[in-house]
Amino acid sequence: MIPVLGYEGCKVAVLGLGRSGLATAAALRAGGAEPLCWDDSPEGRARAEAAGFVCHDLTRADAWDGVSALITSPGIAHLYPAPNKLIARAMAAGVPVDNDIGLFFRSWATAAWDNFDVAPRTICVTGSNGKSTTTALIHHILEQAGRVTQMAGNIGRGVLDLEPAQDGEVVVLELSSYQTDLARALTPDIAVFTNLSPDHLDRHGGMGGYFAAKRRLFAEGGPDRAVIGVDEAEGVYLANQIATGPEDDRVIRISSARKLGDFGWSVFARKGFLAEWRKGRQVASIDLREVQGLPGAHNHQNACAAYAATRALGIGPRVIEEAFHSFAGLPHRSQTVAEKAGVRYVNDSKATNVDSAAKALQAFANIRWIAGGLGKEGGVSGLRPFVGTVKKAYFIGHSGRDFALELGIAHEICETMEAAVAAAARDAEAGDTVLLAPAAASFDQYPNFEKRGAHFTELVQALPD
Ligand code: ADP
Repeated sequence: MIPVLGYEGCKVAVLGLGRSGLATAAALRAGGAEPLCWDDSPEGRARAEAAGFVCHDLTRADAWDGVSALITSPGIAHLYPAPNKLIARAMAAGVPVDNDIGLFFRSWATAAWDNFDVAPRTICVTGSNGKSTTTALIHHILEQAGRVTQMAGNIGRGVLDLEPAQDGEVVVLELSSYQTDLARALTPDIAVFTNLSPDHLDRHGGMGGYFAAKRRLFAEGGPDRAVIGVDEAEGVYLANQIATGPEDDRVIRISSARKLGDFGWSVFARKGFLAEWRKGRQVASIDLREVQGLPGAHNHQNACAAYAATRALGIGPRVIEEAFHSFAGLPHRSQTVAEKAGVRYVNDSKATNVDSAAKALQAFANIRWIAGGLGKEGGVSGLRPFVGTVKKAYFIGHSGRDFALELGIAHEICETMEAAVAAAARDAEAGDTVLLAPAAASFDQYPNFEKRGAHFTELVQALPD
């Protein structure tokens, strides 16, 4: 755990008592603060009390007297579509609102670092898609290179739950837009921006607010190196704002769409090959076509981002290449879960939006596509250019019929995952890929995308060989 510095003897309110909220309360207490815990749900409060914390009713009129800060969880809206009532009251009372990421950055460096030979470093990864894959891949490369490393953030472990830094350690954090939007301190050594496409727009008041939240990672802390995906206008703009000119190698531009030879430092993937260029010359290349854990151009973009971030730490291209080959991939992201009778079954349950589903549809051929669930605002017409690889679709869930109408492709309305897997397996021929890439949230039928992916995997594994 990282004890929180700067609030010794102070009362600090903690709103939202899930995993990161409880880790925050414990870290505050370890640093000598008095956490005042609150969650609107009685279950949340019961969890905190079971963990030995006292709950304070933050809904009371005098709740903010003498409170030094409010720390909130990422799931609670702090501004759009409307601020949570308690956050609004804290702000109205002038109480600074922060999150665990802000506390981490103010508490991570300690006096113990004076005795270290090499100062610990932080790599932060943000972007619309590919954050978890890129974060896990960077962590894996560092491990394979023999570096001391830990991983946390939006990827499952609360940042304050990390162990205090060791000499020369590198911490890799995945940060969502909710997290970068609110954190009052953001000082990564290396910051990575993978890509941008519309998502979570209700929480950011639109696309501009969404991009602004991600830009804070670069604008607030001034990282030593910025790894920036320039396949969208926003990435081009961000790189341009940070770099003093094309030769400025503090910015490493990455692309999975085009050659980028004219910059101080760039990494790009084309036709399955990754290339690193410095000052107008190619200095390294890696064949990504046989890398099992990173299929498709979208994963090649993640490979470029992870390559650039770890090269910036001085790790050699051959070490990175070997680590690519031993990377197993993450569950629910382009994950091959079985091969049966020459048919490949791929679980990409995390493809919850149009952009990530489009990437999955481009990564495979002869697809029997299982899609649907709780569709997002804007529909799926954006997928029309990418359905050429689909032999037939098997639609499930609340939005299945809408998807069928919008896309007009060969399909069957299956309603449930059971029916969809059975129908796809019945139709599939050797050489086909049965792909779960829903382009929709899971909440109509499942508690989360993990449960949906696990259900698909279970059904596939139960199919005859
Ligand atoms: P995030 O953490 O940003 O949600 P993940 O690595 O968990 O990203 O991947 C989320 C979804 O997006 C998965 O369906 C995955 O296959 C797809 N994906 C992964 N990398 C990319 C990328 N670079 N661009 C677009 N989609 C991607």
